[in-house]
Amino acid sequence: MKKAPWKLLAGWLLYLTLTLCSAAAAEPLAVASQFEGASVSGVEVDNGTRTIKFMPGGDPVRGWPCWWYFRIDGITPGETITLQLRGSTATVDKPRSPLQKPLASSWAMPAQATFSIDGKTWLHTGKGSKDGELMIYTLRPEAASVFVAWGPPYTPSDAAKFVRAMSEKHPFAKAEELCRSRGERPVPMLHVLEGNRKTEQRFGIWVQARQHAWESGSSWVAHGFVEWLLSDDADAGWLRQHAEIFIVPIMDVDNTATGNGGKDAVPQDHNRDWSPQPHWNEIIAAQRKVGDLIAEGRMDVFLDLHNPSPDDPTFFYILPSDLLKEPMIGLRDRFIELAYGRISKIKPLIPMSNRPKVTGANYHPLWQQISANWVSMNGNPHTVSLCLETIWNGPNSTTEGYRAVGANLAAATREYLGERREKP
Ligand SMILES: [Zn+2]
Repeated sequence: MKKAPWKLLAGWLLYLTLTLCSAAAAEPLAVASQFEGASVSGVEVDNGTRTIKFMPGGDPVRGWPCWWYFRIDGITPGETITLQLRGSTATVDKPRSPLQKPLASSWAMPAQATFSIDGKTWLHTGKGSKDGELMIYTLRPEAASVFVAWGPPYTPSDAAKFVRAMSEKHPFAKAEELCRSRGERPVPMLHVLEGNRKTEQRFGIWVQARQHAWESGSSWVAHGFVEWLLSDDADAGWLRQHAEIFIVPIMDVDNTATGNGGKDAVPQDHNRDWSPQPHWNEIIAAQRKVGDLIAEGRMDVFLDLHNPSPDDPTFFYILPSDLLKEPMIGLRDRFIELAYGRISKIKPLIPMSNRPKVTGANYHPLWQQISANWVSMNGNPHTVSLCLETIWNGPNSTTEGYRAVGANLAAATREYLGERREKP
């Protein structure tokens, strides 16, 4: 049956009125960034188009301003919000400081942004689109507020909560404090060993993430390492029985808490601070504990976790072999082979190259003060010390993807040490 034209017209008028009323009733969007780890600047809200224009925040003296993380309030659930991101314009006005000109915007612009309704489950938005110097993301949250970020955040509170929860659940895992930062924040560390084997008969394993505060994915890799290590898997049990393991999910807690980038911070980048006189408390403490393992002849596996430059699939950073002696080179290459063998099979794939990047004298003037290099050069003859970079700009650069990398890295560590043990 055909509807009378006046009924159609009335229907349309009603629809139009409701739509206009709901638009008029929409609350103004607001940006909140007064919480741990948040970072944003240059905010402009266009309530007509429901668009937030912004740049990463952070003090450039405290590292590259590429990290962004904030909350949007005032959303009508189900409406489309647009994020219009531009690269930070911040520079440092001091001689011999980094950032005499703005950082390349690509560091701040993942192909997909990350969002969360509850601050716990982090998901990717659809792919952003480039518009000249801008990156545009859209999302349709089914909530009045949404957190948005460069990648899945991982704050010092998250780290503290995680190590505490693990120590309460497992008698073989102890929540400890590596040290207090210069900002007087605790640096949470998990210390794992199981059974009665004497410590001098145990392999020493050191895993640290987040010497660069903006590289949040590396903390999730450390998190996944711990989840596997404490799991019911028989191989995880073997590793706990045969090794003593230290995991620090966030080294630079101060810049992570305050939303600063950390990389190339003044006076010293954390990962260029492994000198005879480190500036940062975390490095002083880590160097001392790693030094103890070296003195005991059991600095077996040292892993320093990072996220790389945009779209760089390089996974392993190593010293040129001519600076090292056997058995270190062969052991390192075997570890890389085992880790690559496992991580490269994760589905969906995490882009990674098995060709390491060499970080010798041509890489950086302070190459000897890079943590993994320092441990290689000051370690035991059998020390395997690696910097591992997990790509942050792929579809699998999510909490699940990063945790899968960590779990496989832990399984590779167990496999590698199993081989070491069989050797006389
Ligand atoms: Zn890094």
